[in-house]
Amino acid sequence: MNTCGKRPYHNRAEALLALAGAKAHRRGHRRGHRRERRAYFCKSCSAYHLTSQEPKRRLKIIGGEDFE
Ligand SMILES: [Zn+2]
Repeated sequence: MNTCGKRPYHNRAEALLALAGAKAHRRGHRRGHRRERRAYFCKSCSAYHLTSQEPKRRLKIIGGEDFE
């Protein structure tokens, strides 16, 4: 069930893969362009989402620019 309206990823690998894909598409864009930058686990959906914003502290970050 997706209560956020965000695209759910069913596992960590899938979310990180999507995150990597989003980065690849960033080619040619300057920094600061709004894109998904982090992945986190959403308890409401029991799934992972990507976000371009700084997540809330309660969210469990599994990947992102700090991850590299
Ligand atoms: Zn969610």
